[in-house]
Amino acid sequence: MSKLFSIFGNPVSHSRSPLMHNCVFKHLNYKACYTRTLLEDGAKIKETFFALGLDGANVTVPHKESAYAACDEVRGFAKKIGVVNTLMNENGKLIGYNTDADGFIYAISEFKNIKNILILGAGGTAKALCQKFLEEDLHVSILNRSKNRLEYFKTLPCKCYTWENFEIVNYDLVINTTSAGLKDENLPAPKKIIEDILNNTRYVADVIYGKLTPFLQLAQEKKLTCKDGSDMLLGQGVLANELFCNFTCKKEDIKREMQKSFQL
Ligand code: NDP
Repeated sequence: MSKLFSIFGNPVSHSRSPLMHNCVFKHLNYKACYTRTLLEDGAKIKETFFALGLDGANVTVPHKESAYAACDEVRGFAKKIGVVNTLMNENGKLIGYNTDADGFIYAISEFKNIKNILILGAGGTAKALCQKFLEEDLHVSILNRSKNRLEYFKTLPCKCYTWENFEIVNYDLVINTTSAGLKDENLPAPKKIIEDILNNTRYVADVIYGKLTPFLQLAQEKKLTCKDGSDMLLGQGVLANELFCNFTCKKEDIKREMQKSFQL
């Protein structure tokens, strides 16, 4: 029997997930279809999931925390951060996973000898990546515009800075997780600080996709090895698709077919 998957979000019309997953299903001959569901009330995620007869789903902004709360069981890294982006129907039980942070790790697997990481921003994405990097015994520093959101990170073994007290050291990787550059032409910090950072790192990544941010543009001008957020999007999608196909498809095959959907 054919399986049915969906993405839940609000808004959801822009999501690339249906195209990414359907491309894989079609080319790997996996009998399944992936649709999109606009969900206004996050509290209704579980009843909507079962009413639609779904086998699995992805969850995007702003329902990732509601998805966590709705699960009968949460597995792996999602438990640690309280954020779920992938749901599975296991014999009528709702099981939650998080593939965002592992997807990012997968996306940067060709970056070698990463030990010291600077994360720009202190929002949800920064939280997930920071926890993941600490789990992997990496050194993490956080630089954020305002003090408030740093409170969470101060409880973790990482260094926390605002623009006012930032002190430059050498990093292996710098990641922009702020939304600066998404709908504007802002850098994630004053230009002097960004210049200093880019002059002292080997690799650069941005979680924003679909546009070249001023941050990534500056990094490219400095001839640094860079990645935009489409690799993270791909990474989380590949890991979610493995769950959807119940690990019957090879990761490399999923990646290859999903990557093709980015050209459509
Ligand atoms: P949050 O709203 O949780 O956090 C936003 C962060 O950005 C805050 O730290 C905020 O700082 C900072 N910020 C916002 N505007 C500026 C600015 N002009 N200058 C400096 N800092 C700024 O967002 P998320 O973590 O949920 O998402 C962040 C980005 O990640 C989004 O662009 C989203 O699209 C992208 N994303 C991409 C994914 C992918 O697969 N590629 C997956 C998930 C997210 P302050 O505390 O001072 O307000």
